[in-house]
Amino acid sequence: NSPEIGSRTRTRAIMERYGVRTKKSFGQNFLTDLNVLKKIVDAADISKNDNVIEIGPGIGALTEQLAQKAGEVLALEIDQDLIPVLTEVLAPYDNVKVLNQDVLQANLPELIKQEFADPARPIKVVANLPYYITSPILMNLLASPVNWATICVMMQKEVAQRLTAKPGTKQYGALTLAIEYQMEAKIAFDVSRKVFVPSPNVDSAIVVLQPRSTTLPVQPFNKQKLFGFIRGCFAHRRKSLWNNLQSVISKEPVAKGKMTMILNNLGISPQIRPEKLTLEQFIDLANALHQQAL
Ligand code: SAM
Repeated sequence: NSPEIGSRTRTRAIMERYGVRTKKSFGQNFLTDLNVLKKIVDAADISKNDNVIEIGPGIGALTEQLAQKAGEVLALEIDQDLIPVLTEVLAPYDNVKVLNQDVLQANLPELIKQEFADPARPIKVVANLPYYITSPILMNLLASPVNWATICVMMQKEVAQRLTAKPGTKQYGALTLAIEYQMEAKIAFDVSRKVFVPSPNVDSAIVVLQPRSTTLPVQPFNKQKLFGFIRGCFAHRRKSLWNNLQSVISKEPVAKGKMTMILNNLGISPQIRPEKLTLEQFIDLANALHQQAL
């Protein structure tokens, strides 16, 4: 009976036996703390009724913990050198499938249909993300038509703080709003850099995303245009909303007249910083500008 994969001794033994050398280019930092691994599975609230997608199984430390709690686990790993390792170390678990795939290229709705015995069960994403592509992965997950029951992911602490930031803070920005548009985000707990092999030079946090419990009181006229507008408004965070609007919309006197009227109608001061606006206010503003053909 060998110890679980996520223990330091077993991780070392696996890496030695298969000659695994972690690749920086794939953001490989393996988690070697069973306590933390089990806490992640708890935070994701996994049961035998759940289908789990894991992004980046590495050498299978988290995958093994998920397999013990979930109905089925589908793990997508970009590094083909790790596939034979995963096949062997996860052999005791018949509810795990590992695919050699780049999650950013994967057709997730199709995979869910093909790979899970019962695709109608709740689909949860659990991962210790490769930090260099945290935002693209999250944006991809949210853009896909899959109804994620939970997305429970480890990321750099600083990014976790951006996802859960409140208006008026330094961390609040386009990423916060893109998440808030669809999900409720909370930090479950922080994780020290010391529990990884190799140890990254940042601390981490587990973020749990769940579908919004309330629908937005206003809908944008166009979601993509709304987020293009929001990113534009945050281009110069230190400048006023008014300054940013002139760069994003127009500096023409007629347009500026309309913009003044819109801000006035919405009760938004032109002099505030963009980071003070709530998602609702951004939607109201984008809709009003659109209505005025701006
Ligand atoms: N889950 C393991 C753990 O907790 O120890 C490994 C986590 S490690 C931070 C990130 C993993 O994601 C690595 O195994 C890496 O090869 C994989 N990865 C990186 N880019 C990927 C991508 N685009 N698609 C799928 N997996 C990726």
